[in-house]
Amino acid sequence: MATSDKTGCEVRIDGAWRLVPLAGAHAHHRAAEKRCPVCHGRVHTQGSYSLQGAVTIAHRRVHDGCPRMPKHYAGTPKPHPQALD
Ligand SMILES: [Zn+2]
Repeated sequence: MATSDKTGCEVRIDGAWRLVPLAGAHAHHRAAEKRCPVCHGRVHTQGSYSLQGAVTIAHRRVHDGCPRMPKHYAGTPKPHPQALD
């Protein structure tokens, strides 16, 4: 199954950011630091173990420069003001 960067999130594993599918990040990396692959803002995963594909990411701090937050996105992609690196 193909994984695109639109459906995953980055997880800090052994000090390096790796793109992980959301379901895997949610199931296996609950306690690890995670960030949005688009804006690099800190995120957490939320969803259900039992429903396939029901996992989503939520930004800890909302900003208007990330298309992964369609409700808040102002139309121009910008790095998160508190981006993790
Ligand atoms: Zn983002």
